[in-house]
Amino acid sequence: MKRCKILFYVPRNLVQLFFVLLSLYIGWQFYNFYVYLETAGLSGSPVRPPAVEAFIPLSALVGLRSWLGTGIFDYVHPAGLTVFLAILLVSFLFRKSFCSWICPFGYLQEILSRTGNIIFPRKIKIAGWPDILLRSLKYIFLAFFVGSVFFMMSPEAAASFLNLPYNKLVDLKMLMFFLNISATGIAVFGFLIIMSILVDQFWCRYLCPYGALLGLLGWLSPAKIIRRENACINCGACDKACPGHLKVSAAKNILSPECSGCLNCIEACPVPGALEYGFFGAFRSKKYLLPAAMLATFLAAILFAKAAGYWQSSVTLEEVFGLYQYINQF
Ligand code: SF4
Ligand code: SF4
Repeated sequence: MKRCKILFYVPRNLVQLFFVLLSLYIGWQFYNFYVYLETAGLSGSPVRPPAVEAFIPLSALVGLRSWLGTGIFDYVHPAGLTVFLAILLVSFLFRKSFCSWICPFGYLQEILSRTGNIIFPRKIKIAGWPDILLRSLKYIFLAFFVGSVFFMMSPEAAASFLNLPYNKLVDLKMLMFFLNISATGIAVFGFLIIMSILVDQFWCRYLCPYGALLGLLGWLSPAKIIRRENACINCGACDKACPGHLKVSAAKNILSPECSGCLNCIEACPVPGALEYGFFGAFRSKKYLLPAAMLATFLAAILFAKAAGYWQSSVTLEEVFGLYQYINQF
């Protein structure tokens, strides 16, 4: 039976939609906080949502460098470092499933990709050496960021960076960048959107350094897709469904860092049990058990950090107010 492309991955898409709506809600709360600062308290809300720090991963990377070197957890953007560590943890345990189940940009990529499927049935397929060369870009970006923070910055320098006025307001600067986006910014985003329509997963596959890091961690993960050769009828449906362009039908276990644990291959497979998702080879018969465990681990890590005091920034509203007067100078 041919299933509807839009409804094909319903459980995963619903989870993705939930996190998109949550991100929009956090963005709305943060915008109201910005209005509060901009109007000197006459409008908006004085409540800054800590979860917005999930969108400043470079600050979290510096926070990680500082924490590992000095033992002091980032108290300027603790929620950013908490979310970053939670993402690293679930990627190590459950492949880079954060990308295919939680990341709002991953969902946006899927929507753009499906839009491309509808508008251009014959989309651009990049394969062979061009694909390998382009895929190396995200690892080059990752090496640049990790190298700059971990090899060119001492722990003390990282700790000092966290205390800079720039870092304290970096979330607000990010919002202001989007509110006052330049022609160059529009051109860059326009290019990325068009390329993501023309080429499957253009951003995730070729450019995202975050995804590259999670893919490398996922490589070490005990969770993997397993193909039972004696059950497989070699129809190739799994290969067509795989957003990572993996040759699932030819593998015994999928070990590639490109595998995001999205389960598209299992959903597409016409033979029950020919493909399974296992953790050290166990828990294979219930395909949604591991994604559920991943989501539970992610949320539990955040709830634990909240309860343990690693969530609320120690930067006071008064300090933010004072620094905000000079935000254009940072
Ligand atoms: S191998 Fe399966 S789970 Fe992994 S990315 Fe491809 S479709 Fe998704
Ligand atoms: S979709 Fe299932 S049966 Fe078809 S090739 Fe892949 S694993 Fe084999």
